[in-house]
Amino acid sequence: MSRLAQFAVFGHPIAHSLSPQIHQAFAQQFGIALQYRTIDAAPDAFADAVRRFFAQEDGRGANVTLPHKHAAFALADERSQAATRAGTANVLTRLADGRLAAHNTDGAAMVRDLTDRHDLDLRGHDALLLGAGGAARAVAWSLFEAGVSTLTIVNRSPEAADALADAIGEPARVHTRYWDDLGHIGSFDLVVNATSAGTLGQSLTLPFSLIGSRAACYDLGYGPSAFGFLAWARAAGARYAHDGLGMLVEQAADAFQLWHGRRPDTGPVYQSLSTRSS
Ligand code: NDP
Repeated sequence: MSRLAQFAVFGHPIAHSLSPQIHQAFAQQFGIALQYRTIDAAPDAFADAVRRFFAQEDGRGANVTLPHKHAAFALADERSQAATRAGTANVLTRLADGRLAAHNTDGAAMVRDLTDRHDLDLRGHDALLLGAGGAARAVAWSLFEAGVSTLTIVNRSPEAADALADAIGEPARVHTRYWDDLGHIGSFDLVVNATSAGTLGQSLTLPFSLIGSRAACYDLGYGPSAFGFLAWARAAGARYAHDGLGMLVEQAADAFQLWHGRRPDTGPVYQSLSTRSS
């Protein structure tokens, strides 16, 4: 009997991951049989675990999550433009010659969730991005390409925000401000929380003045990690407040397409996960 095609998600911790059930649900749409498992690798064991998975266990593709996205980018043999811009990878694909290609699907997934699922036209928006880590870097480029008028990046450590704005290199549209100035920088049409504060169990103290009259708010985290930011957004009068569950499903769909050459229908999978988490 032939062995099932092997896929995995690497993280630390990783037991909580929804990726196995998302990929199995996508595979069922096409009648594809595959194995998709979680692999918990501590940072110092990550590179060896990836090599073993691809070289000895016949791995075809892997998702990568915290804290390994920088390491995944570094160990790949080739990198997509989105991965290079972000400096991180959330997808690894084994090429026909055995080399590994790194991709980053986070930014495109987040923008598709906002525009396609939540029906938001980002063109002409003044957007505020909180955070300048790996996910924020991916999201910043995608928001910029989606046509926001201005993108203001604010990070607790200002150097990372400055480096991201410099990398985009459009000073007329992309600015940085200091975290301590959040109360004085006016209001925005879109506020995106790309910090890991919620995931780390920490809360952000944000002024209501950031929320403009037509503002949408988006937290890249999902489930309980997003509750604090979304509660703040609703209390401040945001018209929409969404968590990153849709982004999670969309980035998985992008990975699925890279590996299987087919585009799954994300709607039913998103519906089923959001019903379960509400
Ligand atoms: P990184 O570790 O690369 O970056 C973390 C960012 O959060 C940095 O900008 C850091 O600032 C900031 N930060 C952390 N704690 C605080 C705090 N208490 N106050 C203010 N800023 C803080 O993480 P990622 O970019 O990879 O992930 C960010 C979030 O996005 C995570 O919650 C992750 O789960 C989520 N995510 C969701 C995805 C999805 O599919 N829905 C996909 C990818 C990520 P500093 O530079 O000062 O340390």
